[in-house]
Amino acid sequence: MSTPALQRDRGTWERLSATVRPEGRAFIAGRPVAARDGGVFDDVSPIDGKVLCQVARCRAADVDAAVAAARTSFETGPWRRMEPKERKRILRRFAELIRADVDTLALLETRDVGKPIVNSVSVDVANCADCIEYYAEFADKLYDEVAPTGPNDLALVRREPLGVVGAIVPWNYPLIISTWKVGPALLTGNSVVLKPAEQSPLSAIRLGELACEAGVPPGTFNVVPGFGEEAGKALALHPEVDLITFTGSTEVGRLMLRYAAESNLKRVALECGGKTPQVVFADADLEAAAYGIAWGIYYNSGETCHAGSRLIVQESAKDALLAAIRRVTATITLGHPLDPATQMGALIDRPHMQRVLGFIDSGVADGARIALGGKRALEESGGFYVEATVLDGVRPDMKVAREEIFGPVLAVMTVRGESEAVRLANDTPYGLAAAVWTADMNVAHRVSSALRGGTVWVNSFDRSSMATPFGGFKLSGSGRDRSPHAIDKYCDLKTIWTAYR
Ligand code: NAD
Repeated sequence: MSTPALQRDRGTWERLSATVRPEGRAFIAGRPVAARDGGVFDDVSPIDGKVLCQVARCRAADVDAAVAAARTSFETGPWRRMEPKERKRILRRFAELIRADVDTLALLETRDVGKPIVNSVSVDVANCADCIEYYAEFADKLYDEVAPTGPNDLALVRREPLGVVGAIVPWNYPLIISTWKVGPALLTGNSVVLKPAEQSPLSAIRLGELACEAGVPPGTFNVVPGFGEEAGKALALHPEVDLITFTGSTEVGRLMLRYAAESNLKRVALECGGKTPQVVFADADLEAAAYGIAWGIYYNSGETCHAGSRLIVQESAKDALLAAIRRVTATITLGHPLDPATQMGALIDRPHMQRVLGFIDSGVADGARIALGGKRALEESGGFYVEATVLDGVRPDMKVAREEIFGPVLAVMTVRGESEAVRLANDTPYGLAAAVWTADMNVAHRVSSALRGGTVWVNSFDRSSMATPFGGFKLSGSGRDRSPHAIDKYCDLKTIWTAYR
């Protein structure tokens, strides 16, 4: 028997990795296909900057083929008209196949995006399977409604699938974010065309294969890798797509609304950027706060939309808190992602690494001070690593306090009291998440109510489950992933009114 995934050493992972041949072709109508014009692009691993494989460069013609397959499957109905309990069975089998495929999926994810293998195994693949299983369970438990009418009428209010769902996703959590969309979309009987980010297409293609193997009918779940401006735009403009469910930057989120307006007024659900404040009062448990703050910004190398990137701390507690954050950070190992001891891996690609380093430089140029890290790391690997960084003395008007860095950089600002803390925390165009740390439950209650964010944590950070909705206020988007609330996004309501004599 092979060693359980979480007990393997780096050598074992490297040997296993050498046996995994990534599939780079699109997955359309139940089979792998090359781009129609034969186009490919290099998929580069951020671990060492080397080409991992070539991937189909899908363009409008390939998107047309995928949407046509999805539309045909939807109209002919093998999935939509299936008995709910059968749909549940297939989705549960899909979840089991994901679990059984953990080695391959985790290696694809780690090699494609540079995250530590232990996280790919125990967070990304595990949550991806849990998400499909969570939505599978709704298939035969959701009831529709009978409206209150007079005695000679019967008004049914039924939930119906929308049709073809286009899902466009980013590179930071490719498996998790894909299944947050694919799970409820399939549960409700829709067909899906998934467009993964060009930096991270491999696990999405594998998901397409596994869904089909589980019994999702061919054409019901298609995957079109390619560039945003090509495959993504063609999908978002497509007249036969009924909903675009998007996660990514606010800038591209705006384009989604424009594409919908220019095409068929398709629905658009957006999960966009964030600039999450961590608000710490002097009476808080500073050790617990330091742990939540360090992991809240350095997990996934800060490439997390709700990463706690702004620390807003009461002046009198700042020095003690920063010392505690330094202690926690010293225990977070930056290293090769296939080494099971590694807790912080690579950034997604060279341009992004340069962008993050540019933010650090801009903070320093604006007068902030590097209190920890600040430099590129492991350069000899050829990969794209940046140290866990703390910028102290940040002013609210600095670029590092206002813009999403999407890297391991914490911006530290001080305040005198509660009202100033709330004002500063809300002084951002984003509203994805926030956290408050205090021993006073009155303060916790007032501040958590006043903070504008889709999730507000109290004396904790990043605790979540499939049972709670996830998404943002303001420029962080609209609509929610996860929880039963996400299901509504993928349905339309139809009233069937019958009059009796
Ligand atoms: P991005 O917006 O550049 O790309 C996201 C997706 O959109 C990719 O698949 C990309 O190919 C596609 N795309 C790009 N340009 C397009 C265009 N013109 N037309 C159609 N599609 C296009 O984002 P990214 O760099 O991949 O990811 C990072 C961003 O995602 C960050 O801003 C982060 O905050 C955000 N994000 C948000 C959440 C959330 O749930 N709110 C979760 C994860 C990431």
